[in-house]
Amino acid sequence: MPGAEVRADVWISEYITPWDIYQHGVNRILASKRTTFQEMQIVETGAYGKALVLDGKWQSCTGDEFLYHEPLVHPAMIAHGSPKRVLILGGGEGATAREVLRWSCVERAVMVDIDGEVVAACREHLPEMHQNVYDDARLELVIGDALDVLDTTRDRWDVVISDLADPIEEGPSFRLFTREYFGQVRGVLAPRGVFVVQAGPLSPPEMALHVRLASTVRAVFADVHSYWSYVPSYAAPWGFLLTGIEPVDVHRDPRQIDQILGERTRGGLRMLDGVAMVGMFHLPAHIRRALAAETQVYTLAEPPKFFGKGQMGS
Ligand code: SAM
Repeated sequence: MPGAEVRADVWISEYITPWDIYQHGVNRILASKRTTFQEMQIVETGAYGKALVLDGKWQSCTGDEFLYHEPLVHPAMIAHGSPKRVLILGGGEGATAREVLRWSCVERAVMVDIDGEVVAACREHLPEMHQNVYDDARLELVIGDALDVLDTTRDRWDVVISDLADPIEEGPSFRLFTREYFGQVRGVLAPRGVFVVQAGPLSPPEMALHVRLASTVRAVFADVHSYWSYVPSYAAPWGFLLTGIEPVDVHRDPRQIDQILGERTRGGLRMLDGVAMVGMFHLPAHIRRALAAETQVYTLAEPPKFFGKGQMGS
């Protein structure tokens, strides 16, 4: 390759489709183990900083995680307006909790992740992500299955955030992308409660999962909005689904959004403000058409089978 210099001996190879691989060169392996639930690595890459990888799937990295975590959290918080109780399902890196606790109106946040070994490794190796959020007395960490917590919680939540690993068949999360699960989430929302889901890539060859997830959430909630953020280390624009017990107004005046963020957060956002948020909800025509046409609903009997594989090697 004229002019190019390849600098790594070890590579994380993530299979985006059966025919496409996205590779990141690794400088250092910070942690690598098989936990009770999944294969985990935390690595330092050359271009994108430190990254968490689960079952070969890239979860997030210090180089561009703000392009994922800010869009995941703040549109839902803004849609509610003044959330006091927030439930985070998944979110092992601690960055979702970090964004939630920027909001001064939040009195209590509970983060439920199934894998204590992943959470502990992220606490040790990814302080840039959690930024010591566990020291905030408003946050409670529960190590457990999101489904069990939804079964047993007596609380009613203003915002529920689903920050779960993609629904690969061998992984611990695919049940949490079904109509039954979304019905359980609806049951724990407060009367004006809002729900947001990390909902997969939106590149043309991969977007079927997102479109069917939208159809699945529509089977449970009346007013469902798709939006996206471009996260370069995911190799595709990333999709999210936002809904609530009441209709969600996503086409606000950007100045109103900036005012809410200014009054109710301690600031520090890097990518999200009123203009950026309004832009995220204006999807291109081919995606809007696919969303309107989709009727398939994921159920426990027919759950999603997301393609996801990867490996680390030289
Ligand atoms: N940004 C991510 C992505 O691209 O997929 C999601 C991030 S976060 C690391 C995903 C977390 O979901 C992991 O820490 C994993 O342990 C957790 N998880 C998977 N299944 C779960 C379950 N059934 N209950 C609670 N947490 C779960």
